[in-house]
Amino acid sequence: MSQIKLLSEEVAARIAAGEVVERPASVVKELVENSLDAGANQIEVAIKDGGKTLMCVQDNGAGIPAAEVELAFRRHATSKLRTAADLEEIASLGFRGEALASIASVSRITCTTRSQDDETGIRLRLEGGKIVHRAPTGRPTGTEMRITDLFYNVPARRKFLRTERTERRHINAFLTRYAIAYPEVAFRVLHEGSETLRTPGNGDPREVLLNVYGLEVGGSLLEIVEELTAQHTIKVRGFVGPTNIHRANRGYITLMINGRWVEDLRITYAIIQAYHTLLPTKRYPIAFVRVEMPPEDLDVNVHPAKTEVRFREADEVFRAVQRAVRATVIAQAPVATPWQPQRRSAQAAPLEQTLRTRLQQLHPARQFTLPSSAKQQGSSPALPTATESSTPATARPTSRATPPAGEERQPAQLPPLRIIGQVARMFIVAEGPDGLYLIDQHAAHERVLYERMRSAWATGDVPAQPLLTAQTITLPADEAARLEAQLPTLSSLGLQVEKVSACTFKVSSTPAPLGNISPQELLADIASSELERSPVREELEKETVLKICKRAAVKGGQVLPPEEMRTLIRDLEQTRNPRTCPHGRPTILQISMKELASQFGRLG
Ligand code: ADP
Ligand code: MG
Repeated sequence: MSQIKLLSEEVAARIAAGEVVERPASVVKELVENSLDAGANQIEVAIKDGGKTLMCVQDNGAGIPAAEVELAFRRHATSKLRTAADLEEIASLGFRGEALASIASVSRITCTTRSQDDETGIRLRLEGGKIVHRAPTGRPTGTEMRITDLFYNVPARRKFLRTERTERRHINAFLTRYAIAYPEVAFRVLHEGSETLRTPGNGDPREVLLNVYGLEVGGSLLEIVEELTAQHTIKVRGFVGPTNIHRANRGYITLMINGRWVEDLRITYAIIQAYHTLLPTKRYPIAFVRVEMPPEDLDVNVHPAKTEVRFREADEVFRAVQRAVRATVIAQAPVATPWQPQRRSAQAAPLEQTLRTRLQQLHPARQFTLPSSAKQQGSSPALPTATESSTPATARPTSRATPPAGEERQPAQLPPLRIIGQVARMFIVAEGPDGLYLIDQHAAHERVLYERMRSAWATGDVPAQPLLTAQTITLPADEAARLEAQLPTLSSLGLQVEKVSACTFKVSSTPAPLGNISPQELLADIASSELERSPVREELEKETVLKICKRAAVKGGQVLPPEEMRTLIRDLEQTRNPRTCPHGRPTILQISMKELASQFGRLG
């Protein structure tokens, strides 16, 4: 009965690949780790479609000798381990010798590399793990791995890929952490051809932090006091947030162990513990903690993705981390500041000022050139500047202080319109210099509100408009928890909400730029939606702004008096991107005179 058979190499390879290559970010991780292992100090990552169609990692590392390049793609082929004893003290990021084999088996990959010892380079192309092309080629020392069509031969996996945005976020979450952990390496990251992260590679982690977290947060992180662990074998380095900066979840705590991003609940807990009584309950610090320890005290060979480790002396590591973090927080912020939802304090200003000046010197031209992605992402010209292009990495210090370039440059694009009326309680009909215009009232209003919110928000916290009488809102427990986590964000957006009991909140103001809106529905809406977690505040705020505007905009189905229609059109004319709503859908359709004439047979 039993029919046990050995699986073919190919099937076995795909099964194994499943463990290493979970999603595009896992590929990026393996490739970047290889580049770091190869001693590169310049790494460029280019991504398309959240990695689904392209991931290309280029480095200036040691390169792969032409004679070994095929071998590099074989399973259990590695240059980093020789003997089983080496496993006891792994100093490189890779060691299992299976990443390239795994990636190659589920994608099309072109490897172009030149070893420092070879005269010319070599190009090798594999499809589904099979070599389909090999030719010598010129290139400087280093390696480029170009992966297209991930999972093209594993439809089941392909189906499970999330949206471009989600995959992009995973990729950026990884890359920003490595950029911080390896400040001596110059990272450059491009999505769809637009640069979203660039680090100078000058060895100064603070500069990378400023790039990644922005001035306010990046500038205020406290450097872990080094002397504390100087005599110990376990060294704890990195940066932790002061007590007045905290977040609603632990997603902002990063742990690097011997140069590797590791997820470890216990050590994470040690970091949280270090803030005990210094943070409000249910709030978590921002922390970027690097632990260095003798490799023999650490087992990194726990999981194929190498994101888990085992410690020989887990308690010691726990204590070392907790002690170092606590001492840093206490020493540099001796008085626990009470939690202030209003984050911008007067004292912070001079620091911010100097940092800003400093940063401007660092990136003179670059900072205002974040993607004006209309060209790259033809179908949704308005969206990218507003939300999509702002991955954690792009949340540059200046991106908040200045409207993105794309929005700034656009001249008002709407001709003067004369309103004729409303159709289906949904569309406004208008006449313009070239024909007939149909405006989606909801989309148009969303655009108007969005730009108002955005320009208020770009210069700091959105002004709040107090409600005449505070309103109370009660929510189911899980939604209440979600809303509670959002309170600081909401407050910076002009929504002052206070928790009065487990499930009840009091709203005392709404965002001033939105005029009179009913906060109840708005909050219920925010509470019921799972905002995607992001390690960067700006990102969360942006998502929330979008939500608020969506909710606050007039709906389809609402009759608009002529005066309101006129105001809406006038407001729309004032926006920078009048032709699309913040989600990228059109606000306005036009039928030209020519088109009308031709439809009625009055032309040619
Ligand atoms: P591992 O990293 O565990 O050794 P991989 O499958 O990731 O296994 O890589 C196999 C081998 O290919 C590495 O050991 C290394 O010798 C070589 N290699 C891979 N990527 C690079 C790179 N970017 N630069 C130089 N050598 C590389
Ligand atoms: Mg590797």
